[in-house]
Amino acid sequence: MNQSEIRNFSIIAHIDHGKSTLADRLIERTGTLTAREMAPQVLDSMDLERERGITIKAQAVRLEYEYQGQRYELNLIDTPGHVDFTYEVSRALQACEGALLVIDAAQGVEAQTLANLYLALEHDLTVIPIINKIDLPNANPERVQEELIEIGLDGTEAILVSAKQGIGIDETLAAIVSRIPPPVGNPEAPLRALIFDSRFDSYKGVLVYIRVVDGSLHVGDKIQFMATGASFEVTEIGVFRPHPTTVSSLSTGEVGFFAASIKTVQDTRVGDTVTLADHPAKEALPGYRPAQPMVFSGLYPVDTSDYGRLREALEKLQLNDASLTFEPETSAALGFGFRAGFLGLLHLDVIQERLEREYNLSLITTAPNVVYQVRLVTGEEIRVDNPALMPPAGDIEEIREPMVSASIITPSEYIGAVMELAQERRGIYKDLSYIDSQRAMLSYSLPLGEIMFDFFDQLKSRTRGYASFDYQWSGFAPSDLVRLDILINGEVVDAFSMIVHRDKAYYRGRTLVEKLRDLIPRQLFEVPLQAAIGGRVIARETVKAMRKDVLAKCYGGDITRKRKLLEKQKEGKKRMKAVGNVEIPQEAFMAILRVD
Ligand code: GDP
Ligand code: MG
Repeated sequence: MNQSEIRNFSIIAHIDHGKSTLADRLIERTGTLTAREMAPQVLDSMDLERERGITIKAQAVRLEYEYQGQRYELNLIDTPGHVDFTYEVSRALQACEGALLVIDAAQGVEAQTLANLYLALEHDLTVIPIINKIDLPNANPERVQEELIEIGLDGTEAILVSAKQGIGIDETLAAIVSRIPPPVGNPEAPLRALIFDSRFDSYKGVLVYIRVVDGSLHVGDKIQFMATGASFEVTEIGVFRPHPTTVSSLSTGEVGFFAASIKTVQDTRVGDTVTLADHPAKEALPGYRPAQPMVFSGLYPVDTSDYGRLREALEKLQLNDASLTFEPETSAALGFGFRAGFLGLLHLDVIQERLEREYNLSLITTAPNVVYQVRLVTGEEIRVDNPALMPPAGDIEEIREPMVSASIITPSEYIGAVMELAQERRGIYKDLSYIDSQRAMLSYSLPLGEIMFDFFDQLKSRTRGYASFDYQWSGFAPSDLVRLDILINGEVVDAFSMIVHRDKAYYRGRTLVEKLRDLIPRQLFEVPLQAAIGGRVIARETVKAMRKDVLAKCYGGDITRKRKLLEKQKEGKKRMKAVGNVEIPQEAFMAILRVD
């Protein structure tokens, strides 16, 4: 395809503003799929994405569109909307020249609208504002236009759309062609293609998603990855329409994938440059800033013989998800497992669910924690990603915790409620400004550890669902933190240790042992539960001994009934882990999350 007839673009939006629905309409209107083939949110291919209504992995689709007698190739790269996946958004944008910024006509500009807009501007993209859902009775496109001017865009250039009813779709396609510039790049230069994603296919090996920046790629070419030096012969090239479709080559500016019998995860790195082995480019393309995992959790197989399968599953998932990290870890309580790093809680949740669903693993996950920087009295600097490994207080000079700079957009009547919440979470106030006459944007510096768990839920409930929230890492800051340990039956259970602010330690310890008392089932003996800081017990509860054997209930009953009861008990035990001689259910390990 002639370079001047190619347009590469992304759709970015605050969650639920209609990105996936707009993508559906573009796919339909360009005849890429027939009406019969369409399913709502057709790009959200993973089951999990459909169920949760979120887009997790970026997807690339080629659309063909005729405009004023000329055929164009439009490459649409869909992106996730959730804050955890900013990294994926950034990757997708690097492969584009333009972005459609979708804004809900009733909701207006929200926190992630701004975050996504800034990302697009950072990548020098042409931004086309789309005011969506104009069919809603409470739609107020004029107000949204004013907000757009307030955030520095030309509101009059916005396209009025109802993705649901198919209004404004032709105008959107026309704007993509006429406003977004075609890719620049040298077709005569040696191949340089940017890897923006990859996926493992059990038949073809690794599928590498690329954007060709210079030169072209053909089946049979011998390619080389510039970061690793590994080389392979290209066996297949394809594009998504949205189903994978084979093509013979990709030229300058085009987006697609290739397979080259690549078996190992380590050979393809997102952000790396692909070139030709016999005619290599001199310089690699600027890569991506790798995303730093900030949230860590221990993953342990319930059945210890699943350890190897868990490792394989994590390796496979890591192939599609460069931001997932893991390393072996041993817990005195839980045995052999892995300490895995995630971008945020939704990311952790998604990985955990995929491990269980797609790999059929039964797991115990420990409560997530953030990563800490610690300076020891010896002057040595260490990173602690597992609270159980935090050195004793006497060895520590300073603990620093990760901070975020957060923006919260809220109707003005809830400013007080938002400030109160931010204060409870040790937030430091930065700024207050107005987006329009009724809505304000508050900026805070907050400890990541304080917003991980239920900050967003709290924010929603205290603003009756009207506030939106976005954040970015802003570095590490010193804080007065202590390690809180939980003792069960007199033994410290490493998987329960957590790092908390000194002012909250007593309250946390107290509520956690109360929670555990309710969650740990009665055993044959009495089980004391204690919370302690540096060996000093600050709270104590007891799980009373069990009185009856389960079988006692059907004394004299028939054997099948007994067997059923035993099986049921076994079933219930699946997600239990024996720690010493105490059976602890999965919920108990997560109880830390619900204590505040
Ligand atoms: P995404 O999270 O940005 O991908 O948003 P979706 O495309 O999943 O849409 C979120 C919700 O808004 C869904 O229930 C859609 O049916 C609905 N929606 C999307 N576009 C429109 C529209 O133009 N009008 C109305 N009334 N609803 C829409
Ligand atoms: Mg979506």
